[in-house]
Amino acid sequence: MLNYDVIVIGASAAGATAALTARKHYPQKSILMVRDVKNVPIPCGIPYIYGTVHDPMKNLIPVDKMMSDNNIDVAVDKVVGINRESKSVSTLSGQEMHYQKLLIATGSKPIVPPFPGVKLENVYAIYKDTDYLAKIDSQLDKTKNLVIIGCGFIGAEMAEECRKKNPELNINVVEMQDHCLKLVYDNEYCELAEKALADQNINLLLNEKVESILGDDKVKGVKLASNKELPADMVILGIGCYANTELASAAGLKIGPTKGIWVNRYMQTIDKDIYACGDCAEKVSFFDRQPSGLKLASIATMEARIAGANLFDPRRVNHGVVGCFSTSLNKKAFAAAGLTAQQATEKGYSIIVGESESVNRHPGLMPGAELLKVKLIFDAGNGVIIGGQAYGASSVGELINAISAFISKQMTAEEIATFQAGTHPALTASPIAYQLVNAAESAVIKNRNARL
Ligand SMILES: Cc1cc2nc3c(=O)[nH]c(=O)nc-3n(C[C@H](O)[C@H](O)[C@H](O)COP(=O)(O)OP(=O)(O)OC[C@H]3O[C@@H](n4cnc5c(N)ncnc54)[C@H](O)[C@@H]3O)c2cc1C
Repeated sequence: MLNYDVIVIGASAAGATAALTARKHYPQKSILMVRDVKNVPIPCGIPYIYGTVHDPMKNLIPVDKMMSDNNIDVAVDKVVGINRESKSVSTLSGQEMHYQKLLIATGSKPIVPPFPGVKLENVYAIYKDTDYLAKIDSQLDKTKNLVIIGCGFIGAEMAEECRKKNPELNINVVEMQDHCLKLVYDNEYCELAEKALADQNINLLLNEKVESILGDDKVKGVKLASNKELPADMVILGIGCYANTELASAAGLKIGPTKGIWVNRYMQTIDKDIYACGDCAEKVSFFDRQPSGLKLASIATMEARIAGANLFDPRRVNHGVVGCFSTSLNKKAFAAAGLTAQQATEKGYSIIVGESESVNRHPGLMPGAELLKVKLIFDAGNGVIIGGQAYGASSVGELINAISAFISKQMTAEEIATFQAGTHPALTASPIAYQLVNAAESAVIKNRNARL
């Protein structure tokens, strides 16, 4: 039997980060990473295979090199069982491996809803498997009518990339909510995203539910509950994913309310020698510690940095998921962190919203000048920031990370209005018009006026 101090199951965002973190914190320990796929796609890069990088093999996490550079052994094999008594795992190829600490990072799988017709040929979900993703690519080459079900960020990004791949393709995206990207944005930002899609001749059907997928062997259409029928020779499902907990459940580990592997604040499962992190692990909200179904690479890697460091010395604490997200649609950046105004109100917060927009250069005639707008949401009671949304120039992708840090540190509108923001004519808005500061200032003034 092989013996390792640490065995990590899974090699994607969570598994790779956890193994590398464990190596940094425990240089003397032997570490093995086991993965059940030959190639590990960059999950967030999957949509960009189709219109931008043009090949699933150009969208890979270089895990083998990362691990060998860090003295971490790798096995391409599937873990099929965990024996908690003997502290060992067994694999499909018949290996038995002993661990002192086990880290489960088995991720998630796409939800395939039980629509009639969902098993027809040319209906695809987004599996993180390069061969499967290549099949989607070749099917797209033959497709005239594409229907994407779901317009969260995966559906929206897939639609845009399929448009880039084929300017002639008829693309319908069906979304049951009244707006796309509704889970992360307030309506006015959703509408900007809808315009970005419409401007690329992507047809978005809002408030529409899929009833069935039509066809005999191959898909021919999609029938909506409103009785509309959309022509389709290909369907892509983009309606979310569920935690892959098969191994953990079989080993008797506790499963949480959103069906992820239950973990404590140190990322330990009910077995103190087994940790879990990433999409497979249960999460709680940063705001009220209620169960959270959010699954993002940003969360997976944060959790992996906690789990990997805690393996032999639990001290890093997971304070719950803030939810920080960004995307790019029609060359405009969209980003959000924390709660939307609507979610905050639904959670019972009384809120104050601060907004600011300006060009992202100074003077505004500088090359690259573009609109950048920011909306910040504060708890009206104590002035603490609980959410933010941003739109426009590509720097929004980094700006949202500052907003996420503000939220994590529970900064107040006063503190954000007076924080020292670095600016430069060729890189940012002017220090006078700097959007983060001015959005916070506008909330401070609104709050003051409300209290006079
Ligand atoms: C199309 C798409 C776009 C996305 N875009 C973004 C984005 O822009 N930003 C963002 O933050 N998030 C994004 N996400 C979400 C993000 O990809 C996930 O949150 C992230 O992949 C989670 O990483 P993970 O390591 O926990 O799980 P996974 O990526 O699911 O990886 C799990 C790994 O474990 C392996 N495994 C499973 N079972 C076994 C076993 N029994 N034995 C051995 N190995 C096993 C799997 O093969 C896989 O390699 C996107 C997701 C998709 C699908």
